[in-house]
Amino acid sequence: MANYPFLSESSVYLKKMGPSLEELLHDLAYERTRVSGKERVLEALSEGRINDRSLISDADCLVELLSYIAARILVSCVNDSYLTKRYALAEAKTANLRLQNEDFDFVVNVAMELDLDVKQEDGACKIHFTHYLRNTSQMRSKPWKIANQNLHKGYIILDKTRLARVIQQALQMRIERELPAEVTNEILKDLKGHITEITKIVEERKNTFKAEDFGKLRVTKLPPCIQQLIAKVQAGENLPHSGRFALTAFLHSLGMSPDEILQLFASSPDFDESKTRYQIEHITGKISGTEYTPPECSTMKSYGICFNEDSLCKKEWMTHPLKYYRTKDKGSKKKNKKDTKKPEDKK
Ligand code: SF4
Repeated sequence: MANYPFLSESSVYLKKMGPSLEELLHDLAYERTRVSGKERVLEALSEGRINDRSLISDADCLVELLSYIAARILVSCVNDSYLTKRYALAEAKTANLRLQNEDFDFVVNVAMELDLDVKQEDGACKIHFTHYLRNTSQMRSKPWKIANQNLHKGYIILDKTRLARVIQQALQMRIERELPAEVTNEILKDLKGHITEITKIVEERKNTFKAEDFGKLRVTKLPPCIQQLIAKVQAGENLPHSGRFALTAFLHSLGMSPDEILQLFASSPDFDESKTRYQIEHITGKISGTEYTPPECSTMKSYGICFNEDSLCKKEWMTHPLKYYRTKDKGSKKKNKKDTKKPEDKK
């Protein structure tokens, strides 16, 4: 239960044997638990996973189990979407890593607990294709593609490693759905010190994702759609595939290297360097042989990623985000030329 605190067995146990919310928040005996809960959140933020602790005694196990509850309360109190996503991902990744060392039967049971339609037959685990699709939509590498699966009567066979990865996704989505939970003013007051500390670290982390980090690119000249896509990535939102494609192709057209583009996506909560690098190198032509151009405005609109159109967007001739950038770039170069002219030049 200490290792898999999200299981229903854990909450049944805590209801019977655990402290009340009052005790958890106030009692001196649970100070270690509150601190562990905060550490859990900070580890999720900085390392993207929850560290293993020594679980020698029953007391250690109880602290570990309760630290999960304390961490969820703290994440709810801070109420920041970047933190929530980062935390959900860290809990889910940690579960995946721990499941690698468990029996296959146990892993299948965890999948069932997360409402995945799985069944064991002849020593193999099968998952219904609808549940497979729902939980693998983020996984774009070939081995995960539905076309490459052995589909039999609506079910797909998974080995333990792949099942644990599907569980990771299902758990991440469940935690993201559940948090932030409602918290009272009383709770906010009781945990004020911990909340302030976490909020400060979240803000510091988010500040490192400022658009100024784009070096040669002037953010103010970017079209509103691209600015919005960048802001979403920086705020820790996962972009839809169409958004990732448009952003990568656009930045590549302006001369950003694959490494610089990769750096931008590094702030996504589910950043996977090798997967992201593969996607970028595919779009920029390094491995695909085709250098994709960014979509034009009409396509951006049909994808639902044309945001915050301004007066320049509304010009009849504005058909492409690159046209927008070049128009603004030309405008500011002209202005700079004028501004740098000496008074006698102007005469
Ligand atoms: S009109 Fe074109 S340039 Fe403007 S926000 Fe929409 S897609 Fe971007």
